Amino acid sequence: MTFKDLSIIEPILRAIREEGYTTPTPIQEQSIPILLRRKDLLGCAQTGTGKTAAFAIPILQHLYKDRDRNKGKRKIRALIVTPTRELAIQIYDSFRTYGKYTGLKNAVIFGGVKQGAQTNTLRQGVDILVATPGRLLDLMDQGYISLKDVEYSVLDEADRMLDMGFIHDIKRIIAKLPRERQSLFFSATMPPSIIQLSRKILGNPEKVSVRPEQTTAEKVEQLLYYVSKKGKPKLLVHLLQTQPMDSTLIFTRTKYGADKVVKMLGKKKINAEAIHGNKSQNARQRALGNFKSGKTKVLIATDIAARGIDIEQLSLVINYEIPNIPETYIHRIGRTGRASFSGLAISFCMEEEKPFLRDIQKLIDQEIRVVEEHPFVAYEPDEVIVSAPKPQKQQSYNRSRKPGRHQYHHQKSSRNSRSK
Ligand code: AMP
Repeated sequence: MTFKDLSIIEPILRAIREEGYTTPTPIQEQSIPILLRRKDLLGCAQTGTGKTAAFAIPILQHLYKDRDRNKGKRKIRALIVTPTRELAIQIYDSFRTYGKYTGLKNAVIFGGVKQGAQTNTLRQGVDILVATPGRLLDLMDQGYISLKDVEYSVLDEADRMLDMGFIHDIKRIIAKLPRERQSLFFSATMPPSIIQLSRKILGNPEKVSVRPEQTTAEKVEQLLYYVSKKGKPKLLVHLLQTQPMDSTLIFTRTKYGADKVVKMLGKKKINAEAIHGNKSQNARQRALGNFKSGKTKVLIATDIAARGIDIEQLSLVINYEIPNIPETYIHRIGRTGRASFSGLAISFCMEEEKPFLRDIQKLIDQEIRVVEEHPFVAYEPDEVIVSAPKPQKQQSYNRSRKPGRHQYHHQKSSRNSRSK
């Protein structure tokens, strides 16, 4: 199944091709045809399943096909309500990305910041508005926003909205929407309160549900290393040198972090490349090509850049930084353990990341096995090293390093000389 098979129009196909998406995710495969038929939809899916594209693509397609209707000043024709600022920004970014060749205008509004920039954008007219409930109502009350032209409405993460106490806000917003519209409702869980709310919003919806991703976590062997921030680079070099892997994908949270790791590994003569949003499409493709062909064995990626990566037999995933969104962890480790192949995923966790780790373990309903003994257990740069690796014996895996020049030794001496 390809996106083309789903009858998606060329301007959108082009944008998703550029994102590196090759095949639709299950929620996309199921939802897009329903939404293109203009049916209401009740979707049970978590973030991380590709749900945003599942609703953004059909909405963009409808709006693009009907673009003549928005002659003159643009009116809000699609409204997406989501509980948090982070989600709102993510959804807005997705609409911008997938819709970049459609000429449609998007805006995002959320609370906690001054409203001036948001109202200026709104004044110029937008086709698609992504909003958190509080700020949306606020700007509606002030007369900056009218919902009377909305043809497509999406309520995202409905269960979280209720948990966050937005039920009355949601009801007020729904009351202002025109009756004739296509309504989409997404929730990760479907307790009775959610079903009840969905009935108020949806006509006679089609239902889609995607299998929770937890299963991925069961296929992949997972290990956890507790290590200090300063110990992370040392541990990474140590693992790459001692674990003979054909292909290692390392995740960092930020683009800056990815570049830093590449540089750090470069100094240790470990050939690695990074892919992230600051790199040109060509540079990303090249790095990916080198990794796929085995020319580079280590690739560093941010979560966003890694979405499009499809490598059949990835041996090792390293979470250099623990993701702050638990679903992202499942995404990352799912990069290994594809198809019948079961892989290995290693996570580095420093003190500050322990809360993220707790959330992850809760989501996967599993305690990740801790590697108690490793050379950098108590590594603190300004302290005495508690247990050091035995350099010569650990060199079974030698990438392109100069022979006989042990990494750790080298590090240690340069650190000592600095501290003098
Ligand atoms: P979401 O569940 O909407 O938060 O999506 C999770 C991530 O999956 C997003 O970062 C998207 O960029 C990515 N994504 C969505 N659809 C696809 C696809 N068909 N192929 C690869 N990545 C995708």
